[in-house]
Amino acid sequence: MEYTQLIVMMLWLTKKKARKHMQTLIGIDLGTTNSCVATMKNGTSTIIPSSTGARTTPSIVAFAKNGERLVGQPAKNQAVINSERTIVSIKRKMGSDSKIKIDDKKYSPQEISAMILTQLKKDAEKVLGTEVKDAVITVPAYFTDSQRQATKDAGRIAGLNVVRIINEPTAAALAYGLDRQEDQKIMVYDLGGGTFDVSILEISKGVIEVLATSGNNHLGGDDFDNEVIKYIVNELKIKHNLNISSDPQAKQRVREAAEAAKIELSKYNKTEILLPFIGTDKYGPVNFESTLTRDKFNEITKHLVEMTKGPVMSAIKDAGIKISEIDKVLMVGGSTRIPAVNDLVFGITGKQPFKGINPDECVALGAAIQSGVLAGTVTDILLLDITPLSLGIETVGNHFAKVISRNTTIPIKKSQIFTTNAPYQSSVIVHVLQGEKAEANLNKSLGKFNLRGIRRAPAGVPQIEVTFTIDVNGIVNVQAKDLDTGKRQEITLEASTNLSEAEIQNAIHDEMDYEEKEAIRKQLYEKKEIAMKLVEQAKAKMKENKSSRKQLKPLVSKVEKSLRSNDEASIILATQELEESLRKF
Ligand code: AMP
Repeated sequence: MEYTQLIVMMLWLTKKKARKHMQTLIGIDLGTTNSCVATMKNGTSTIIPSSTGARTTPSIVAFAKNGERLVGQPAKNQAVINSERTIVSIKRKMGSDSKIKIDDKKYSPQEISAMILTQLKKDAEKVLGTEVKDAVITVPAYFTDSQRQATKDAGRIAGLNVVRIINEPTAAALAYGLDRQEDQKIMVYDLGGGTFDVSILEISKGVIEVLATSGNNHLGGDDFDNEVIKYIVNELKIKHNLNISSDPQAKQRVREAAEAAKIELSKYNKTEILLPFIGTDKYGPVNFESTLTRDKFNEITKHLVEMTKGPVMSAIKDAGIKISEIDKVLMVGGSTRIPAVNDLVFGITGKQPFKGINPDECVALGAAIQSGVLAGTVTDILLLDITPLSLGIETVGNHFAKVISRNTTIPIKKSQIFTTNAPYQSSVIVHVLQGEKAEANLNKSLGKFNLRGIRRAPAGVPQIEVTFTIDVNGIVNVQAKDLDTGKRQEITLEASTNLSEAEIQNAIHDEMDYEEKEAIRKQLYEKKEIAMKLVEQAKAKMKENKSSRKQLKPLVSKVEKSLRSNDEASIILATQELEESLRKF
């Protein structure tokens, strides 16, 4: 009770502070395959369409050969012919130190994600007609600290103030539960493009409390696609003795055909996979044709569907409830449209999953509601989220000492006293870990720091207090203090995979630089378009009115020359001259 009051107080304070400086807030579902943006409009959470008019934006970035950057549908459209410079599923790499090399520049996953966020921000600004600075971004509940930190950094690079990171299933529950006041326990089963999350939540009198969460950060629709790809590659080998492993274009076409077949099999019992001219064999071009049945698809992807069972059972157990107590099952993420997934969930819970919410949009809608809570426009809902993984430190003998257990409500602060294990140590290394394994090295390392200057004493005498704080975004801060000398060391964890402040600043600078160049490039492009149209008009006029030739021809040549020079000032000048002359005829 005391704790709930504290959270209500904090929420009230945050709201008061938030109202002062926040303008238009948006909620962003930054998905593996697709992203989606929403905002609160007249008290209702509403999807903001993309620049192409779609309600979701493919999470794809491409670097065209001319240096242009494409994001979303335009990037997806050219993926087959430019597969090596097209980046998909970057979310899977968030929180890792992998880099994507394009020409001579290496991009971090944060920078690529920032490019997607920049596009979403721009689209939202166009629709809302106002600058957007603040955003709530969702992450899979099962994201580790480094993955959350990386998401926040991506937001910063895109010029967004990330006011809150919330868990995707929690956002879905918010979208579902906003106007539902009756008490109920719900299970959110979220299988997207790259991640799987399952959460058990309780909705009671406007309070949405997450009881437990579990999942797998590396399981999603992409894995189902990969199984279909393997099937096609194998068929190509058997039927045509064709190996496409060194043909990026063919590989991309197979990938797209595999995903399309998978989606079709959610509706029909069989599908035709057609790949004309996918390669050549000794008889000439190979046209691949194959029928994939839903039964075969279920057989080759059964292990993936089954892999979601463990986390579901573990979340139910951690929530301390019986399966029969679940009132409703919400399905979130595109991959929950796979019939076998639906069957598995029905098999476990005995409940037909609720179909009343759109699995592609509900996460963004929930994020917008949370943004409304923060801005003070939504007042009748309170969210109590949890930390998905246990936190602690490494102690002697490769042991993991947990300080905060998984599924603890956040924000939280918790301390534990540790001591030294060697005589007269003057410093200790605090190695912070996240995970559930008893052996330290099997958990995710969040970072190490050194507490120096402790009073030299026999082993076991010094008292080192280690305090963990998890904020509302699920981001961890650790402090170690020698209770004897009062020496303390504090860090917001920066795992080795995270970007340093200098790297973030560089990336912000690069992004702004790109945006400026892009604006100049667009302006030049528009001026060139106008000039080219005018040249066409002038040429038509010269055909129609021969007497105009003498005056117009040199001016047309001048415009054409300026177009070749790419110099904006001379294009404008030459265009103006031609336009004025043209008016006379
Ligand atoms: P999300 O990250 O929630 O947008 O989910 C994207 C994933 O859902 C991708 O792997 C899609 O291929 C997959 N998906 C979308 N629609 C369907 C469908 N009808 N059947 C099976 N998978 C789908």
